[in-house]
Amino acid sequence: MPPPPTAPRQPHWIVRAHWVMRSVSFVNAFAFFSLHLAGRGYSTWVWLLLALQFLVYPHLIYLRACRAENSQQAELHNLVLDCFLVAIWVSTTGFPLWITFTLFISTAINNAISQGYRGIFLALGAFGLGTLLGIGIGGFQLIPEDNPWITGLCVFGLSWYLLGIGRIAHTRALLLRTVRENLKQREQELRNANDTLQQQLAENLTLQRSLHEQANRDALTGLFNRRYLIDTFERELARCSRESQPLCLMLIDVDHFKQVNDGHGHQMGDLVLQELGQLLAREARQQDVACRFGGEEFVMLLPGLPASAAHERAEQWRRGFSELGRTRDDLPGALSLSIGVALFPAHGANPESLLRVADQALYKAKTGGRNRVVIHAPVDAAMQAPQPAAG
Ligand code: GH3
Ligand code: MG
Ligand code: MG
Repeated sequence: MPPPPTAPRQPHWIVRAHWVMRSVSFVNAFAFFSLHLAGRGYSTWVWLLLALQFLVYPHLIYLRACRAENSQQAELHNLVLDCFLVAIWVSTTGFPLWITFTLFISTAINNAISQGYRGIFLALGAFGLGTLLGIGIGGFQLIPEDNPWITGLCVFGLSWYLLGIGRIAHTRALLLRTVRENLKQREQELRNANDTLQQQLAENLTLQRSLHEQANRDALTGLFNRRYLIDTFERELARCSRESQPLCLMLIDVDHFKQVNDGHGHQMGDLVLQELGQLLAREARQQDVACRFGGEEFVMLLPGLPASAAHERAEQWRRGFSELGRTRDDLPGALSLSIGVALFPAHGANPESLLRVADQALYKAKTGGRNRVVIHAPVDAAMQAPQPAAG
């Protein structure tokens, strides 16, 4: 299959710029050289060569650069070739002063612009080689030339050439400035986009945290929910086990809560639950996990709480809740809690068994008359605190 047609390669901009400059200035060179050679008896061949050099050569080397794989590199070679060839012309025609100077400086300056010091040395080298070759061909001769027409053409040509280079430099500087400004603008746009992205990321993170928090919280009381407790219980138990720490689980149930709803309305029921939630959270330690387990049932997970302190902690909440009922006018007067307590490691080693045991203790508290704390099975005599009288 034939390869797909490719778009014609565009030469580097400098190739085209040099082509224009070279073509025009070499026409001028043809003119001043013609004036210099006229009347000196040069053969037709020399005149032909002169036309070839100054009228045809600029286009030939332009085409060569255009076809080259790397047009810019080919043009650098062209610039050195210019120096070499004009040196042959000036040396074989007796080093006419203005012509020599004009051609040397206009060909060398392009090498200097393109390659800096290296270009200057290359130009000098090529000019030197061309001169030697010219002397070798025609012998050394010196015809300084004082024709004012030639001087005029050289001054005009050189001025035009240098101004042309200045104009190109100006255009490129403007282009560079535009490119730099565009780059700066793009940079700013990128920075803005990045800022927006960072902001969105931060918002997403906040949203994610808030969603996570919401997923773990009970909407009515603000305490952790059952789901969070299930996630946390196993982890806390493993940690306490690893660190040989005790853990206490309390199952807390509002007594006769249905009567609160029935007697005072569901809204009052909600308020009572919220007050209980605040009471539990207020008197919890930092490491304690206060949860609403469901309905009017709450759970306190107390890592590191020694068995000897468990009863007293549960009593504090029981008394505190009863006191709310007695002291607050906006709440029903008779409020009480039944609390079942299970202890790790004495009563179980996993969440299920500890919850089951705490539930059994709660059941005992309910059947025992409510408004009381029951520890599943006191682990030592010191913990057998007297049960409070109901009411
Ligand atoms: P006991 O002393 O045996 O625990 O009796 P109780 O009345 O507290 O228990 P019961 O299980 O009979 O009734 C619990 C009530 O709690 C029933 C239910 O309507 C109510 N309840 C559950 N969740 C909410 C809630 O979010 N808000 C309100 N106001 N009531 C709730
Ligand atoms: Mg209840
Ligand atoms: Mg209940």
